[in-house]
Amino acid sequence: MLAADVVVIGGGPAGSAAAIELARAGRDVTLVDRARFPRDKVCGDGITTGALRLLEDLGLPPRRVASWQRVDDVVVRGPAGPEVTFPLPRGRGTFAAVARRADLDTALLDEARVAGVKVLDGHACVGAREHDDRVAIGVEGVGELTAAYAVAADGMWSPTRKHLGLAAPGYRGDWHAFRQYFGGVGPRAARDLFVWFEPDLLPGYAWSFPLPGGRANVGFGIVRGERVERVQDMAGIWRDLLGRPHIRGVLGDGAEPEAPHRAWPIPARIDEAVLTGRRTLFVGDAAAASDRLTGEGIGQALLSGILAAEAIASGDGTRAEGPGVVTARYRRAVRRALVADHRMSMLLIRAVRHRRGVRAGLRLAGATDWTRRNFARWLFEDYPRAVLATPRRWRRGMLSGPGAYP
Ligand SMILES: Cc1cc2nc3c(=O)[nH]c(=O)nc-3n(C[C@H](O)[C@H](O)[C@H](O)COP(=O)(O)OP(=O)(O)OC[C@H]3O[C@@H](n4cnc5c(N)ncnc54)[C@H](O)[C@@H]3O)c2cc1C
Repeated sequence: MLAADVVVIGGGPAGSAAAIELARAGRDVTLVDRARFPRDKVCGDGITTGALRLLEDLGLPPRRVASWQRVDDVVVRGPAGPEVTFPLPRGRGTFAAVARRADLDTALLDEARVAGVKVLDGHACVGAREHDDRVAIGVEGVGELTAAYAVAADGMWSPTRKHLGLAAPGYRGDWHAFRQYFGGVGPRAARDLFVWFEPDLLPGYAWSFPLPGGRANVGFGIVRGERVERVQDMAGIWRDLLGRPHIRGVLGDGAEPEAPHRAWPIPARIDEAVLTGRRTLFVGDAAAASDRLTGEGIGQALLSGILAAEAIASGDGTRAEGPGVVTARYRRAVRRALVADHRMSMLLIRAVRHRRGVRAGLRLAGATDWTRRNFARWLFEDYPRAVLATPRRWRRGMLSGPGAYP
C-alpha cells in the first residue's frame, strides 16, 4: 500500500512548485522538510521576470509575501565605474522584485497546502531506497513513506541524492555566496537594485537588493574554480567590500547589519548533474539548476519543479507507465528548457572574467535607451538567456510584452 502517489523532499521553491502542480493534477502528495517554516534560506532574495511569471502561474499573489518589494531600476557598476542605470518597463507589470526567502517560501508552501498537499515540516528525510515498484523515504519522527515517485528538492547538499548513492564525490558547488541583511540604508539602496562588478571578484560580483522599511539584502558571490583560495576568507573580503566608497556611499552612513552574515554554495551545472534515479527526480539546487553566469536559482528551481511534476502527471497514472518513461520525459524536458541557457551562460561568463569584457559589455548594453531597456529585461530573464540560439522560443511581442502580475 503506497502512502502517497508522490513524496516531495524539500519545501523550497522547487519542492513547493512540484507539489502544487502534482496536487492540482489530482495526485496525492506528501511533502517533507527538515525545517519548520517560516525558515530562512541564505539567498540574495532577488526574483527575476522568469521566476515572477512562474510564481504568477502557480497562483501566488505578491500580497501574501510580507516583504515583497517591486524593483524598477537596476544600477550596474563596472570594475572601474561608472554606474549605468538600466530602467525596467514602467506600468506594465513587474519585471523584478525582492522578497525575503523566509516570507516567499512560507507563502509558497501555504499555497501547496491549499492545493491539497500534506505538508510535514520539521521532519527530515533520513533514508531513501528505490524498489522495482516504489520508492521508500525514511522520515524522522514519521517512519517510512512509500510512493510511486519521489521528487528530491532538498537543496545543494541533497541528502536524498546521498542516500541513493548518486552524489558527485567532492562536489561543493560552483559559486560560493555570502549575504547579510542591513537596516537604515540610504534612499538609493532602499529603492534600486545594485550590482557591483568588483575587479577582484570577477566573474563574481557584489549586490545590494532593496527590501521594504529601509532595508537591503547585501552580499557577494565568487565563482569557485576561479577564486578557490578566496573562499577561505569570505569574511575578510566582506569587511573590505563594505569599506569601498562606492558601496558605502550607496548603503549610506546609517546602514547597520541586522543579523550575522551567512554563506552558502550555489550549484550550477545542470548539464552534468544526474537528474534522475529509477523513481526519483532531482529538481532545483538538488539538480544543480542555478544559473552559472549570475548564480540565481529561484526561477530555475520553480521551473524544474514544474517540469518534474509534468513528467510524472502527464503519464497515464502512477503505476501502469514504467518509471523509465517518466524519468526520460523529465530529462528531455530539462534539456529543452534549461541546458541551452546554461551553455549560453558558460559562454558569457568567459566575457565577464576580465575587466575589459565587463567594460565592453556595459558600454554596449548602455549605448542607447533601447539597449538599456532590453539589457535589463534580458538580465532579468524576461527573455531566456539563450533566446538567440533557440528560435523555437521566439514569440510575438517577446521584446515588448508586459511583465508578471500586470
Ligand atoms: C548567497 C546566495 C544568494 C543567492 N541569491 C539569489 C537571488 O538573488 N536570486 C535567485 O534567484 N537565486 C539566488 N540564489 C540561489 C537560490 O537561493 C537557490 O538556487 C534556491 O534556493 C534553490 O531552491 P531549491 O528549492 O532548489 O532549494 P532550497 O531553497 O535550498 O530548499 C531546499 C529545502 O530542502 C530542505 N532539506 C534539506 N535537507 C533535508 C532533509 N534531509 N529532509 C527534508 N528536507 C530537507 C531544506 O530545509 C530546504 O527547505 C542565491 C544563493 C545564495 C547561496
